[in-house]
Amino acid sequence: MPDSNSVLIVTDIQNDFLPGGALAVTDGDAIVPLVNDLARRFANVVITQDWHPAGHISFASSHPGRSAFETIDLRYGPQVLWPDHCIQGSQGAALAAGLDIPHAQLIIRKGYHAHTDSYSAFFEADRKTPTGLTGYLFERSIERVFVVGLATDFCVSWTAQDAREHGFETVMIEDACRAIDTEGSLAKAIAVMDRAGVRRVHSASVAR
Ligand SMILES: [Zn+2]
Repeated sequence: MPDSNSVLIVTDIQNDFLPGGALAVTDGDAIVPLVNDLARRFANVVITQDWHPAGHISFASSHPGRSAFETIDLRYGPQVLWPDHCIQGSQGAALAAGLDIPHAQLIIRKGYHAHTDSYSAFFEADRKTPTGLTGYLFERSIERVFVVGLATDFCVSWTAQDAREHGFETVMIEDACRAIDTEGSLAKAIAVMDRAGVRRVHSASVAR
């Protein structure tokens, strides 16, 4: 049951991740009405927005000879290469038009450093550079984090793992997420979340 110490993190529901977008997640648009409905059950909502400069290090186009969905080694570890997506200020980076959460209190942008990606809403992919979200949630006395959005196997999973790592009770609402699922990434992400103690629930079990 969401209470005043709970937050809903709405992850990356942006045009480029919806069908027709630059990095479309299959069925990504299907979750929008459910996410709107869930958000009404929460007093506290944070929205995340993937927000890259042109030429970002996570783009395959920044690595001559490489293609999208290949994995390469960067100074901070393995990085999946993506089609150009969510470029700052572009229509693709805009939140989905159908997203209707006027009471959301914070929009946290991530991936804005040219040389580091950021799947998680808490830490960039170097696992060292904080986004500031932890401090925000601590100062607001948040104890429970619920995560929904796109994509299950990347930004949702990394955000949920980091929430656990900071001691938040963490719940992933499975039917309000959709996955990219490249090279077994979904099964891997689910296993890692389970190990980290992230609870996975259906939206019907989140009280109104
Ligand atoms: Zn990105």
